[in-house]
Amino acid sequence: MTRIAADQVLESVRAQRAMASTLFDQLRRDGLDEPGVSRDPYGAGEQRGHATVTQVAKTLGLEIENDVAANLYMTQPGRDRSAPRVIVGSHLDSVPHGGNFDGAAGVVAGLVAIAALRRMNIQPACDLTVMGIRAEESIWFQVSYIGSRGALATLPDGALDVRRVDTGRTLREHMTECGGDPAAVARRHRHLDPTRLRAYLELHIEQAPSLVEANRSVAICTGIPGNFRYPDARIEGSHDHVGLPRRFRRDAAMAGADFAMAMDALWAEYDQRGIPMACTIGRFHTDTSAHGMTIVPGAFHFSLDVRAYDEAVLAELDARVDAIIGAVEQRRGVRFHRGPKARAAVGPVDPTIESALLAGAGELGLAPLRIGSPASHDAAAFAECGVPMGMIFVRNENGSHNPHEAMDIDDFLDGSAVLTHWIAREIGA
Ligand SMILES: [Zn+2]
Repeated sequence: MTRIAADQVLESVRAQRAMASTLFDQLRRDGLDEPGVSRDPYGAGEQRGHATVTQVAKTLGLEIENDVAANLYMTQPGRDRSAPRVIVGSHLDSVPHGGNFDGAAGVVAGLVAIAALRRMNIQPACDLTVMGIRAEESIWFQVSYIGSRGALATLPDGALDVRRVDTGRTLREHMTECGGDPAAVARRHRHLDPTRLRAYLELHIEQAPSLVEANRSVAICTGIPGNFRYPDARIEGSHDHVGLPRRFRRDAAMAGADFAMAMDALWAEYDQRGIPMACTIGRFHTDTSAHGMTIVPGAFHFSLDVRAYDEAVLAELDARVDAIIGAVEQRRGVRFHRGPKARAAVGPVDPTIESALLAGAGELGLAPLRIGSPASHDAAAFAECGVPMGMIFVRNENGSHNPHEAMDIDDFLDGSAVLTHWIAREIGA
């Protein structure tokens, strides 16, 4: 693509500024739940977001479709409708009291790209689908990538029976209410056949401050971490009188503390070895119904999320966690009950897409960073099925999963231009 074409891409994408701003404003109103927005998955907030995006897609004349997991597909037909299609997407749910852009930006970017291609009179060679994905934020159902894995028929067994933490009702019930067909999901009805997908691209706000620090507007993703998680682990010791000598104690809280310190030391060791990973104990507490100042805690509850960019590293970390637990059990005379274990595979970025996105961003006059995603994304679910995947990150102040997300619309348009440029080059000729 020539330099002039790159300028055309920028002009055509920037011409969509008003459409994008209006859509972001409406999505904010849809999810408003002060402080911030709550687009609860398979609930009222996400539902309103889907309705708003669908309305815009209709005004663009796109084909609208929903699948058995109630994901939303908005398609610009290609010249050859039987050719494998390109999907551009992200999720429309948010964490409770989150920001407006985590997820939604990727869906709006897809619509911006379609409108910009039209302005350039480009009809794609194959179908180009913008996907509004359900339930990506695992804080609600404690399962990763529900919407995308529902579409690809790779949801783990039992996922439909998990309960949303706030409502106490099952995914099956919530999905039914939002027009899904959980029985078909359970039968592993596959709406998206990976062999019929040419590529999956996702634009997302950055969730760490790397772009702010480097003063750049966009980054190209080099990989998405996989993880293993214990959402609901507990330690069983013995509730005892505070006067009990130390040698008789089976103190679950002290065991929890030992475990946390050992995990932090493990992370420090990997940092020193230059192997990227992260470990988070998001929940960490004694039993509120039984704890008290004069009681040795006999029960302790925690969650654990361990993530890394390499399956071999994850497997090694899994074994190290087991060893740490074994040692703490022995030292403290307690028992760990890990509870259910959740996993998400590492999401490798397709090297051809990655280098094309980097080159394209360069042609557009941007100076993109290359960064590993700190967070999990639906793109990993596509990569796990062998779909070539790429991601674009947009600068965002104040992190995400909080009401203070701050993405500048100019930065968003830069990221959307990288996306549109890739589409124009890949399937626009
Ligand atoms: Zn997200």
